[in-house]
Amino acid sequence: MRECDVVVVGAGVLGLSTAYHIKRRHPELRVLVVDKFSAAGQGSTAKSMSAFRCLFSSRVNYLLSDSSVDFYAYVQNQLGVDLKLAFVGYLWLLSEREYGELHPVLDGLAASNLKYEEFEAEELAGRLHLNVCLAGDEEAEVLGLNDVYKGVLIPKAGIVDADCIVKFYEEEFLKLSGEIHYGVRVESLIVEPCKPLGIPGEPFFWQESRVSGVKTDAGVIKAKKTVLAAGAWIPQFLDAVGVECFIKPKKRQVFAIEAKKPELKQLLYTGGFNPVGCMPFTILPKPRVLIRPFPTEGVFWLSYADDFPRAFKLEEDPQPEKSFYEYGIYQVLVKYFPQFRDCHPYSAFAGLYEINTLDGHPVIFEENDLMVVGGASGSGIMKADAIGRVAAALYDGEEYADLYGGRRFKVSDLGIKERRVEREKLQI
Ligand SMILES: Cc1cc2nc3c(=O)[nH]c(=O)nc-3n(C[C@H](O)[C@H](O)[C@H](O)COP(=O)(O)OP(=O)(O)OC[C@H]3O[C@@H](n4cnc5c(N)ncnc54)[C@H](O)[C@@H]3O)c2cc1C
Repeated sequence: MRECDVVVVGAGVLGLSTAYHIKRRHPELRVLVVDKFSAAGQGSTAKSMSAFRCLFSSRVNYLLSDSSVDFYAYVQNQLGVDLKLAFVGYLWLLSEREYGELHPVLDGLAASNLKYEEFEAEELAGRLHLNVCLAGDEEAEVLGLNDVYKGVLIPKAGIVDADCIVKFYEEEFLKLSGEIHYGVRVESLIVEPCKPLGIPGEPFFWQESRVSGVKTDAGVIKAKKTVLAAGAWIPQFLDAVGVECFIKPKKRQVFAIEAKKPELKQLLYTGGFNPVGCMPFTILPKPRVLIRPFPTEGVFWLSYADDFPRAFKLEEDPQPEKSFYEYGIYQVLVKYFPQFRDCHPYSAFAGLYEINTLDGHPVIFEENDLMVVGGASGSGIMKADAIGRVAAALYDGEEYADLYGGRRFKVSDLGIKERRVEREKLQI
């Protein structure tokens, strides 16, 4: 049996950020991270599109992302750790209706200093060789596609390498003498009475009880505090002890296309939108197919966040579906960007979003010495630093967390009991 002060289940980006921020505040604590995989960030973190944006309809999501991105920029620019962070921008291609819906959000965020630039459809058509007018196209009509009315470019957005972020937290945590055990599978949470009486079958309902650690395939780990940061697997543990977290797993798929054809190369390296000289991360009008540029590899990543009727399903190793690209993404994509005609993915991968079905925000709370840190709802990379800081403040019982850049955040706003967030409308 192992004993420690804090055991963190999950060495994904949230688990490691949390472990690091707790250890940074308390170098004397014995903090142990365990993960079933053989290295850091091999769960949903490894399957992410590794992009970031500071555009959310909710102020809380905006703040979590904005302050984390500032921290990553500081790590790269001031500490000299290459996170492969590049401000390529996010370009939202919007139908007239979507533009009308987004505008109040942009106006609100402009007060918080969010910069954005608007483009007329015709200008984008010229610069990106984009079909902005689909009128008269019967297939587009069947697909329910709309004309592009305008484009909105968010410059404080872009791409990063999730693996580099994870390695940064891992290294910093280890430098502080944190401990990580890979290849350890947690089987269950251990619940014990706060005042054990030594009677078989404890704890009984009349006893006050607490989570006192985890049972793993490598033995028992006892801890004063257990932090559950197991991503999409969180509900599996909580259901077993009757704790609600409102997190559900949902498969997301990414398909990689090489920019081999000259017209695709031209699209990938379209200049004038950012200092990198590539196309921005681009979001098509609803149903919102996503195009993530990978300029250093000469590749595009394509995805689509499907909702109804895809099941919430926990899978150990989710697989991409060829038909999802061929009958889904491809059909929509070529209507707007004909450059992709006859292009097939050379590789693909799938992972799990850990969706907070209540409001699309992370969930950070503590109950009976168990802390839960998760539910980043498909944007955990871009919010991981802030989430780690909020979790560390919760660990210390503080009312407010100091996010990077000096902004304060009320810890209970992301809890369950006194949760105070507006529903996120721009989840993609
Ligand atoms: C296709 C896709 C695209 C995405 N794109 C983006 C993006 O562009 N930008 C962005 O910010 N976010 C994106 N996300 C979301 C982002 O990847 C997640 O929000 C983030 O990785 C969640 O981190 P986590 O640490 O909570 O979970 P995870 O990375 O899944 O970490 C949880 C860890 O817990 C471990 N674990 C689980 N069960 C056990 C057990 N029984 N025993 C031991 N260990 C266990 C797992 O092995 C895993 O390492 C994307 C996700 C997907 C799937």
